Amino acid sequence: MSRFIRRAAVSAGALLIEALYPGRVACALCNREAILNEQNLCASCAASLQPCGIVPSSPPLDGLVAAYRYKGGVIAGIHALKYNKQTRLAPFFAEAIDLPPEWRIDVVIPVPLHPFKKWLRTYNQSERIASSLARKWSLPTRDSLLRRTRFTRTQTALDEFERAKNVARAFSASPAVKGLRVLLVDDVTTTQSTLLACAAALKEAGASHIYAACACFAAKEPE
Ligand SMILES: [Zn+2]
Repeated sequence: MSRFIRRAAVSAGALLIEALYPGRVACALCNREAILNEQNLCASCAASLQPCGIVPSSPPLDGLVAAYRYKGGVIAGIHALKYNKQTRLAPFFAEAIDLPPEWRIDVVIPVPLHPFKKWLRTYNQSERIASSLARKWSLPTRDSLLRRTRFTRTQTALDEFERAKNVARAFSASPAVKGLRVLLVDDVTTTQSTLLACAAALKEAGASHIYAACACFAAKEPE
């Protein structure tokens, strides 16, 4: 009986919240019901945001920027964008990426998924971020200029050396990139191994400069 009353009280509570805050009441990042700010974020996710900006990078990458540090609420947001089809989060991250004007980008290319992985997931989260970013900066996107030719293991459990080995020679670029200043787009970078492997393939195909923009940058060591 008490369980029935509790369940009734819970659903009455949910109805009351719906009546008080009609429409969207779940935080865009953590999906918890809360009072939201103008970005649709709860107070705890909003307070946890750490804007990132320029991140040191090494050749063949000519520069790297990220919207946020991979901490706090954005971790749940990246997970939702990547695995739970929450593609509405792509503009949220793209909006926070600032491109240095001296990069003078010609074309935006998302880090490709292997076609089988894309088929399983139904979409590529990096493509969604790339198209939002390209729209914001009025740049063209060309997904077809870079392909993933090898099916690679997921990087999550690998260390820096293993990650580099895992993605080496996994990409192939079209000769149509010759002379272009390319902006690569990815969701999260930690060791930059995927971006470096993409940049190597693009430079081998003749691209002149390779820059990268990521939604989040995860520091290798805890700070
Ligand atoms: Zn939240």
